[in-house]
Amino acid sequence: MHEISLVRTIFRTLEDNFSPEELGRVTAIELKVGPLANVEPILLQNAFEAVVEEDETRFKDVKLRVNLVPILIQCHDCNQITEVQNYRFVCVCGKPCGNVVQGNELLIERVELVD
Ligand SMILES: [Zn+2]
Repeated sequence: MHEISLVRTIFRTLEDNFSPEELGRVTAIELKVGPLANVEPILLQNAFEAVVEEDETRFKDVKLRVNLVPILIQCHDCNQITEVQNYRFVCVCGKPCGNVVQGNELLIERVELVD
């Protein structure tokens, strides 16, 4: 499953950026996910729980939060940034627009550590 490998990648990224001592103090991981990232937040949560239960038990008290951000496009004609509703890629000025400036991301936005 695609989400399982994503979760493993998230843990690898944390291991690369935090010391074992810091990893022991992680309480929450916050992700920023765009609708175009091809990730289902519910499946990601389920995958997270499965991985934590099976082989990352040291993270069993860690919460995963998925912050879904809207798709934004920027028009080449009028330069305005518009939020895409229902996958309708049209600027407020009426021009079709495929210039996505937000919506593809899958990022670790924040990691919370207990003091
Ligand atoms: Zn426009």
